[in-house]
Amino acid sequence: MTETNLIDGRWVGADSGASFEIRDPATDRVVGRVPNAGAEEARRAVDAAFGAFSAWAARPAVERAEVLDALAARLISDRDELAALLTEEQGKPLSEARAEIDYARSFFEVSARTCLSIRDESPSVPGKKVRVHRRPVGVAAAITPWNFPIAMLAKKMAPAMAVGCTQVLKPAEQTPLSAIALLERAMDSGVPSGVLNLVTGDPSAIGAAWLQDSRVRKFSFTGSTEVGRLLMQGAATNLQRLSLELGGHAPMIVFEDASVERAVDIAMAAKYRNGGQTCICPNRFLIHGDLHDRFVSRLASRSAGLVSGRGDRPGVDLGPMIDDAAISKVESHVADAIDRGAEVVTGGDRRRVEGLADRFFAPTVLTECTSGMRCWTEETCGPVCPIRRFEDEDEAMAMANDSVFGLASYVVTDDQERIRRLGDELHTGIIGVNDPGPAVASVPFGGVKHSGFGREGGRWGLEEYLELVTVSTIEPTSV
Ligand code: NAP
Repeated sequence: MTETNLIDGRWVGADSGASFEIRDPATDRVVGRVPNAGAEEARRAVDAAFGAFSAWAARPAVERAEVLDALAARLISDRDELAALLTEEQGKPLSEARAEIDYARSFFEVSARTCLSIRDESPSVPGKKVRVHRRPVGVAAAITPWNFPIAMLAKKMAPAMAVGCTQVLKPAEQTPLSAIALLERAMDSGVPSGVLNLVTGDPSAIGAAWLQDSRVRKFSFTGSTEVGRLLMQGAATNLQRLSLELGGHAPMIVFEDASVERAVDIAMAAKYRNGGQTCICPNRFLIHGDLHDRFVSRLASRSAGLVSGRGDRPGVDLGPMIDDAAISKVESHVADAIDRGAEVVTGGDRRRVEGLADRFFAPTVLTECTSGMRCWTEETCGPVCPIRRFEDEDEAMAMANDSVFGLASYVVTDDQERIRRLGDELHTGIIGVNDPGPAVASVPFGGVKHSGFGREGGRWGLEEYLELVTVSTIEPTSV
C-alpha cells in the first residue's frame, strides 16, 4: 500500500488501499504513486489537527519560530533534491524549480520573524481599559494547485504554523510528491504530530469533508475561480473564514516613454516563467502605438529563440504544459484568436520535442487582438502573448481594467506622476512597475474581483490566520 498521507504524525495509505500514479509531464514516465483518499481520511486529518491545536497554540511564538527556521534551513540543505523532484513531476526548468524552493523558504523565514512581533493593542477608550488580543483561528484547511506545488503550500503553512494554527492540506493531483517531500522535511524539523496533516485523493470529497466540519475555522485556497466559487458556497454552512487566491489575467502596459529593450526584458521574464502557467504572468499586452511594431518584432524574435524540453536538461527555457487538457486549452485559445483575425508573428502551434510527450507549445506572439477573443477574456495559462496597441493612458487603463480578473498587472514607464496614479487606477491587487517579479514573501499578495480576496505574505499573511478579541474592562476604581 502507498503510505504517503500524513495524519497525526503517521504516514498512512487510503482506507481502501487505492492509489493513483503521478507522471512526469515531459516524458509520461510514472514517477510515483499516492493514496487515493476521501472524506473519511479527511475527517481523521481534522481530528488530528483539532487535537494538536491547543498545545501548538500555547507554545511561545519564539518556539514556533524555531521550528519554522529549522524547516527553512532544510530547504537550503535539500534545495537541489527538492528542485529535481519538482521538475520531474511539474516540468519546469531546474533553475525555476530552485527559485521556487527559495521563494517557499522565504515564507518560513518571514513568518518566523513576523510572529515574534504580534502584540496586543490598547486603543484609548474613556473610562475603560481595552485590550485587542489576537488569537489563532484554530484548524485551517488549505488546497493548492499544481503550478507552484511547494511555494503555494509554503505560503499557507508558514503563516498558519507561525501564529499557532494547525492544518489539513490537500495538494493538486498532478504534483503531490513535492508536497509530501516538504511535509517530510517539516516533520524532521520538529513539527509536532497533528500540527500538519496531508491528504491526497478525491478533491470534492476531501473539500466537502472540510467544509462540512465546524472544527475547521479557516479555508485557504489557491486555484481556479470556478473551484473558488464552489468553496465559497460550501463555506457558508459553517461560516469558515476564506482566503481565495484565484485566476489571473494580468495586463502588461508599455507606455510611450519606455525603452523597448527593457520592456521586452520584463515581458520575457514575467511571461515565460513556468511556461506561462503562472497566475500572475501577463496575458494581455497593451503597447503604445509609437513602440508597438518595434516591441512586437523584438518580443517575437526573443520568444522564438526560447528552447523547449525536459526541465532537467541544460539550456531549457520552457518545460511541457502540465497535462493534455492544459495544452488543448492553449491550442483552442490560439485557434480562436486566429479565427477572429489575430496574426501569428511567431509560434501558434505545438512544438514537437524529439523523444518527449506531445505537450510542448511554441512561444507565441499574436497581434491584431481584440476584446472578443478568448485569449483576451480568459486565462490561457500558457506561453501566448496577445498584443493590442493603444494611443493614450485613459485608453490603456480602460482596456487593462476591462476584465473580471484583478490579480496582477505590469506597467513599463518612468513617468513618476503616472506611477503615483496607478494604485488607484489599475484594478488589480499587485502592480509591477518595471518589475517582472513583484511577488515576494514580505509583501501582500492577492487579488481583487474574480481573482479572489485575502492576502498572503508578510504580516498581512499572518493576519489571515488570526482573529481579534476585544477585552473591554471597567476597572474597579472607576465603577
Ligand atoms: P483547480 O482546478 O481549481 O485546482 C486547484 C486545487 O483545487 C487542486 O488541488 C484541485 O484538486 C482542487 N479542487 C478541484 N476541484 C475541487 C473541489 N470541487 N473541491 C475542492 N478542491 C477541488 O486549479 P488548477 O487548474 O489546478 O490551477 C490553476 C489555477 O490556479 C489557475 O487559474 C491559476 O491562475 C490559479 N492560481 C492562482 C494563484 C493565485 O495566487 N491567485 C496562484 C497559482 C495558481 P485536484 O488537483 O485533485 O483536482
